[in-house]
Amino acid sequence: MTKSREIRLKSRPTGMPVADNFELATVELPPPTAGHVQVRNHWMTVDPYMRPRMNDEKSYIPPFALGAAMGGGAIGEVTISNDPALKAGDLVQSFLGWREGFNAPANQVQKLETHGLPPEAFLGAAGMPGLTAYVGLLHIAGLKDGDVVFVSGAAGAVGSMVCQIAKLKGHKVIASAGGAAKVAFLKELGVDAAIDYKATSDLSGALAKAAPDGIDVYFDNVGGDHLEAAIANAKTFARFAICGMIGQYNVTERPSGPRNMFMIVTKSLRLQGFILSNYMNLRADFDRDLAAWYAAGKIKSRETVFRGIEQAPNAFLGLFKGENTGKMLVKL
Ligand code: NDP
Repeated sequence: MTKSREIRLKSRPTGMPVADNFELATVELPPPTAGHVQVRNHWMTVDPYMRPRMNDEKSYIPPFALGAAMGGGAIGEVTISNDPALKAGDLVQSFLGWREGFNAPANQVQKLETHGLPPEAFLGAAGMPGLTAYVGLLHIAGLKDGDVVFVSGAAGAVGSMVCQIAKLKGHKVIASAGGAAKVAFLKELGVDAAIDYKATSDLSGALAKAAPDGIDVYFDNVGGDHLEAAIANAKTFARFAICGMIGQYNVTERPSGPRNMFMIVTKSLRLQGFILSNYMNLRADFDRDLAAWYAAGKIKSRETVFRGIEQAPNAFLGLFKGENTGKMLVKL
């Protein structure tokens, strides 16, 4: 490669991002210097957490810089290596997505052993979203025998893995997602009840119908009305893994709900937020369990794929319009 196209953050969005917040640029790729590799990306991921990173706010991860290529998970192939640790043809994972190719020090990329899985699975079910589901459900919520589980954003990358892990461990799972096609997908995953939250004006009532005795675990990807419904239907001592609140990433004013927070006291609930990077010690356990589940045919991974670097902003914007079932990816 002598050139690479990349997506840069042109301006910071207010509310829902628009195409004009991004710009496509072409950069020269000189031959890599000693200790560096050149990589052609085959896949990149777009993720909800990138939306808060577009704001100029202090958080657990620094904001994207204006005028610079954005970053995120990517899987590519080494085209030139000037480091003995890697050779041309090696598959590598990096945090240098949103670009077609790059030169980088060899230690900024990680050699990927796929063990027979498709490489792109390592951006979804076998990667960060799958690990998030595993950590949130098993470690943060502390899933235990007999628990009834409720999960929002259930047809997405993290949510679909929460459904499957909870089901294969024998739990009753109630899943919420937007639209009839997603409800059908959730049934394919084997959930016990699927709520189309866009088709109901009474989410709490729909959850009560699906779980008449209440829920023990809530895996929150959405916040707001879903969190309120989960609190309303929680059993005493229920545990909530607060993973994300995508319903709030584009708000321009602080939202008012949930309105029933006092029930956290009266029901002795435990709500715990988490950021995956603080739990990477669980990666080896996840890799071991996931390999066994895949081998037993217990995991279905679905992707929604946009094609071409120029489509990356549309793929990203699609996350906030519910355009993805399973993991949203861009094939480069
Ligand atoms: P998804 O694959 O679930 O994609 C986003 C989905 O969110 C959409 O398809 C859409 O589904 C739903 N959605 C979008 N806007 C709204 C809204 N306003 N209200 C309700 N649902 C909405 O994304 P991920 O699986 O990658 O991420 C899921 C959550 O997990 C996010 O909140 C993310 O920030 C969080 N996360 C947290 C991590 C951590 O370390 N804590 C790590 C990774 C992810 P639908 O059509 O059903 O509405």
